[in-house]
Amino acid sequence: MMNDNVLKGISDAIVEGSASLGLTLGNGLYEAIKCEPALRCKQGRCPNCTARVNDALLTIDRSTSIKRQSWRRSVFALHSLTVPNGNTNSLPITDIANKIRRSIDHWRRFAVQVEDRPPNEHFACVSTFGLVEDAGTEKQGKRVMLVEFAVTGVSAEADFDVLESLMSSFDGRVSSVPFATGRGVHAAPSEGLMFGFMKRRLDRPERPMVISNKRLLAEMASNYGPEDATMRCEVVGLEPSGDGFIFASASDLVMPPFFHL
Ligand SMILES: [Zn+2]
Repeated sequence: MMNDNVLKGISDAIVEGSASLGLTLGNGLYEAIKCEPALRCKQGRCPNCTARVNDALLTIDRSTSIKRQSWRRSVFALHSLTVPNGNTNSLPITDIANKIRRSIDHWRRFAVQVEDRPPNEHFACVSTFGLVEDAGTEKQGKRVMLVEFAVTGVSAEADFDVLESLMSSFDGRVSSVPFATGRGVHAAPSEGLMFGFMKRRLDRPERPMVISNKRLLAEMASNYGPEDATMRCEVVGLEPSGDGFIFASASDLVMPPFFHL
C-alpha cells in the first residue's frame, strides 16, 4: 500500500517537474495535476489513481480460496518500448494493452482446450505493465516497459506460445527479468508496474523503489499520457469478493474491467 504522504510528494514532484520542462497543460495533464478524492482523473499517469488500482490488485493475495492453486510468475522487459532520458512523448498505451491481451489469450485458449483439467481447478491470470527506470545503466533516466504475469490453472507448455506472441508483438526484443519476490502462492503483482513510477536494476533480482527525481517523474507521467489507469492491468478469471478476489465461474473465461476508481 502506498502511503498518502509519499503519493502527495510524487504528485507535487510531477507538477513541479512538468512546469520546469515547460509541458503544456492540454491533453488531460491539467486534470491529472488537479486530481483529488472528490474528482479522480483516472489517468494512468496520475500516481494517486494508479496507486488505487495497484492497491486493489494487492488484495488478490488476501484471498485464501485462490491460494489453493499454485501460481506461476514471470516478468519481461519489452525493449522495443525503451524511452531515453529527456523524452516526453506519449506511448501507445492502448495498443500495448491489446498486444499483451492477445498474448494472455494463448494461455486462455490452452486452458480451455485441456480436457483433463481437474474439475475444481480454475484458469486465472493477472498482468500489469509499466515503465521502470533501469538503474543498472550509466545513463540515468532511461526507462523500459516491463510486463508482469501471474498465471494459474494452465500447464507450462503454453508459456512458450505466450512468449512467442510477445516476441512477435514487440519486435522480437523481449527478455526475461529476474525478480525478487513472487514464488509459490502469490498472485498479486510485485513489481509496482501498475503504480508506474519505479526504478530497479533489470539484470538481477532487485526490489523496485519509488523514483524521486522530479524531472524524470514528470517525463514518465507524460509518457503514459491520458489513458485510463486500468488500461495497464488485466485480470482474467477472478472476480472481487469481500475484501479480496475469488475464482470466477469456470465458464467465465472473459476479460472484464474490474476496477472502478
Ligand atoms: Zn488521478
